[in-house]
Amino acid sequence: MNDYDQPPELYDGLRLHQNENTGGCSPRVLEALAALRPDQIAFYPPYSSVIDSCARHLGVSADSLVLTNGLDEGILAVAIDRLRSSAGGFVPEAIIPEPAFEIFGFDAEVVGARVVRVMPQPDFVFALDDVLAAITPRTRVVFITNPNNPTGVAVAETAIQRVAREVPSDAVVFLDETYAEFAEHTFIPDLGRFPNVVVGRSFSKSYGLAGLRAGALVGHPDLIATLRRAVPVYSLNAASVAALQAAIGDQEYLRNYLSQVKESKALLYAACDHLGLKYWRSAANFVLVRTPGRAADLVAAAAERGIYLRDRSNEPGCSGCIRVTTGVVEHTRRAIAVLDEVLCAAR
Ligand SMILES: *Cc1c(COP(=O)(O)O)cnc(C)c1O
Repeated sequence: MNDYDQPPELYDGLRLHQNENTGGCSPRVLEALAALRPDQIAFYPPYSSVIDSCARHLGVSADSLVLTNGLDEGILAVAIDRLRSSAGGFVPEAIIPEPAFEIFGFDAEVVGARVVRVMPQPDFVFALDDVLAAITPRTRVVFITNPNNPTGVAVAETAIQRVAREVPSDAVVFLDETYAEFAEHTFIPDLGRFPNVVVGRSFSKSYGLAGLRAGALVGHPDLIATLRRAVPVYSLNAASVAALQAAIGDQEYLRNYLSQVKESKALLYAACDHLGLKYWRSAANFVLVRTPGRAADLVAAAAERGIYLRDRSNEPGCSGCIRVTTGVVEHTRRAIAVLDEVLCAAR
């Protein structure tokens, strides 16, 4: 059994290890939270208005969407609905192209599924042929993240469509679009043609709501109706409902963060070129970088200097790699200064 390796609780330095928005949430979110009345706390939360706003924001109908307590809960709902050991007398299979977000494998195993891991291609190009070859009549979910975490590498739309056409009729493609705002690309307009694809969205990273927990599953209304049965009826609390409504209402704040992410990535790429480090161009708000020595040593040295980075060197295809959040430009500059200092001292 694969245990979820929860990142250490480090809050006293600069957190560039979990892809959060280190600039925080929109000030409008704080206003909305401060405006909550005692009765709104005392009553079970109403959802119809925030679902409508969210659906409009994503360009879908309200019955194409279910809100979840962070996308993590949406992933668990997909696992419960499709991957729990069935009465059919076989063990359902989950296909996970590596390297992948760890929660997929964790949730699949928790509900008793068999995890079929597909190893990475050079430069993390989506392993389409190997994923297709891994499909069996027992396949129930194929997990794809676009752009991928921890690599930042984007997946071709045509590859996703191909997988969706090849899976068995009871299976779904779970398409994790946590980082879609950064890539400025989404599969959502294609969902009408692919009723077996469920898109997962998160408000944790781009909108800076990780501490409040808000995510969504988006797909064909029939598929969403099925998945909804695996989501607690009062999944989001009243504070996250108010926060989500305010956050999606402040697109200016999001745009500003997206432009900082672009600038941050350019700065980090230039620093890596200068230091002779290999990296992969990222469509997300983080960059995977291959370090010359032991990734764990570099991560420890950066932590001593108050900057947390993520050691990803144990992920398939990622030997020697660290993942660096590239959000707020000032924070990226601090990370680059520390990388410079630590790597030059090691030479
Ligand atoms: C961060 C992350 C999530 C989880 O998002 P929450 O909405 O905070 O639960 C899901 N998938 C990927 C790929 C992530 O990086």
